[in-house]
Amino acid sequence: MNYNDSVRKIKGVGEKAENYLHKLNIIQVGDLLEHYPRDYDEFKELVPISELQEGKVMAVEGVLRRKPSVKNTSNLKIITAFLEDETGVLQITWFNMPFLMNQLRLGTRYIMRGKIGRHNGKLVLEQPKLYSKNEFYKKVGKMLPIYPLTAGLTNHQMTKVIQTALSECEGILEFLPQEIRKRNDLVGYKKAVQDIHFPKNRVDFIKARKRLVFDELFLYQAALRAIRFQNDQKSCHVMIEKKEVEEFVESLPFALTGAQRRVYDEILADLSGGCVMNRLVQGDVGSGKTVVAVLALYLTVCNGSQGAFMVPTEVLALQHYASLQNMLGVLGVRVGLLIGSLTAKQKREGKEKLASGEWDIVVGTHAILQDNVEFQDLALVITDEQHRFGVRQREVLSEKGEAPHILAMSATPIPRTLALVLYGDMDLSVMDELPANRLPIKNCVVGTDYRPNAYRFMKEQIEKGHQVYIICPMVEENEDVELESVTLYTEQLRQIFRGMAVVDSLHGKMKPAQKNEVMERFGAGETNILVSTTVIEVGIDVPNATVMMIENAERFGLAGLHQLRGRVGRGEAQSYCILMYGNDTKEGKERLSILASSNDGFHIAREDLRLRGQGDFFGVLQSGDKLFKLADIYEDAKLLQAANEEAKRYDFHEISRFYARNRRLSEKLEHYMGKVSL
Ligand code: ADP
Ligand code: MG
Repeated sequence: MNYNDSVRKIKGVGEKAENYLHKLNIIQVGDLLEHYPRDYDEFKELVPISELQEGKVMAVEGVLRRKPSVKNTSNLKIITAFLEDETGVLQITWFNMPFLMNQLRLGTRYIMRGKIGRHNGKLVLEQPKLYSKNEFYKKVGKMLPIYPLTAGLTNHQMTKVIQTALSECEGILEFLPQEIRKRNDLVGYKKAVQDIHFPKNRVDFIKARKRLVFDELFLYQAALRAIRFQNDQKSCHVMIEKKEVEEFVESLPFALTGAQRRVYDEILADLSGGCVMNRLVQGDVGSGKTVVAVLALYLTVCNGSQGAFMVPTEVLALQHYASLQNMLGVLGVRVGLLIGSLTAKQKREGKEKLASGEWDIVVGTHAILQDNVEFQDLALVITDEQHRFGVRQREVLSEKGEAPHILAMSATPIPRTLALVLYGDMDLSVMDELPANRLPIKNCVVGTDYRPNAYRFMKEQIEKGHQVYIICPMVEENEDVELESVTLYTEQLRQIFRGMAVVDSLHGKMKPAQKNEVMERFGAGETNILVSTTVIEVGIDVPNATVMMIENAERFGLAGLHQLRGRVGRGEAQSYCILMYGNDTKEGKERLSILASSNDGFHIAREDLRLRGQGDFFGVLQSGDKLFKLADIYEDAKLLQAANEEAKRYDFHEISRFYARNRRLSEKLEHYMGKVSL
């Protein structure tokens, strides 16, 4: 049996089991072997009765002191017994296991292991298994897998199927060169696969995990290098410096920051250098990335070619379109817009203009990626908010031109080393400076009882001519969760601010055209307060807005909050961010206080790392990082670095050969190339 065989080939897997497995996206034997445990039940030593803890699975040894009793309810037979050791007495219950009555003998010593629950205020050992001393001590130290399941499939069945597959599958072959394994102290592939499912002890588990995490990270790095290599092979547009661009810079209402200048120079060097540019600009929210993009686009147009500016949301596309029109339209540059919500006719006309070269620049969403979008001479592709796009998407766009230059921009504040490794295929420019006219945002972390004060404060700001954002996390009312619904919230605010302010709302369920109208009104200053979901998280730039209030702030991650906060503090006026928690847990408050004490995205990223780093070790396995099954880019930062260094040792041909040997690996390469790169 091999990795690519259907799971039906495994002994004991019939049609029914196959259906269950399919529900978990397990089609081939390889999928099954990569269906890693989400956690482990660690088989630990005996615990004295006085030290038992509710909610845990624990083992005790004691003597049966009272005669066990059976109670019959309508559909349950409940056995109750009491076990005693030197430290106390513990109640035991079993449901529907009447046969146990014949096994349990008064005055006999037993080892039992099960979950500790609570009943009538007292700890109870629920549904324990009985062990002989011999059996028990053989198991101590082992870790039993707990698998992600689907209704109808038990953990026991899953364990059995995987066990069988492991023993029957011959295709678990080593694919990493021995030198890599040696350098990084990695166990063999087969052993790792076995041990991630059934580790004999913690040490084996850690080694198995290390090996498999390394594999994921190494393959990913290799994928990035393969993309890079393909790019380097292509011949490209060589641009020359243009005085028009410098004149444009002179005409801006502000002077470029040192960082903007430096990054533009780096881009210029790439564009005129004879190799395809593949550069990531990383700059904190509000550092002024758009202007840099505009300069690069203008240079491209002055060199007689076309540029594309791709963004993740229609709201942002419209905003960028408007500002490009504003800045470059007057200079005779023809800027077009391509988004999904245009009419079919508008789209068709737009595409014609791109193909004929009538448009110099197109701003748009994924719509630009469609097959039938063609350019006359595409030389530069810019993606804004890069972390929202996949490597593959960037690729598709670059295939529309003859090796166009690529510039990706991101505000995701991740540490520099991590960025280099994650975006291993790109050069990196860092914009580490905010425009000089900015005042640091003032922050506060408050409970909901502060809301009336917050509203009063907003009123003052509105009277001064400024605008306000309020973030509610969800659209629909949800009885289970205490979340303010946008619609309801907006109605309430309209009451409160009646005659004082115009309140509008924006949420993900709106049609794009509606969203655009709302944003236009807000951008034009016709609306004073915008109540929104996180749809405004990225990119939106209305410098006149000075207050950002985030309800239920504890529900957001630090990075998301930092992005949201970045919607204010974009002009000269003092801005404020009110982080309101609906639910004050200690961790929640600690997290929010990190934001309150700093406006520096890089600092926040480090703190985020520190907080997450304290998480339960096994928690790592569950972190839902979509890109990898096991690896966690923060927790495994060291291995990521190591994998990066290894991938660098091999050239493209070696890497292709490496993949070609194994179909599963080449599928994985595709997977990584297609996935979001962060
Ligand atoms: P981000 O890096 O978050 O994309 P933007 O490019 O949207 O930031 O810029 C934020 C705001 O700062 C915009 O209103 C922009 O006009 C303004 N801005 C950009 N560069 C400068 C500068 N050098 N001096 C002053 N304001 C600037
Ligand atoms: Mg931006």
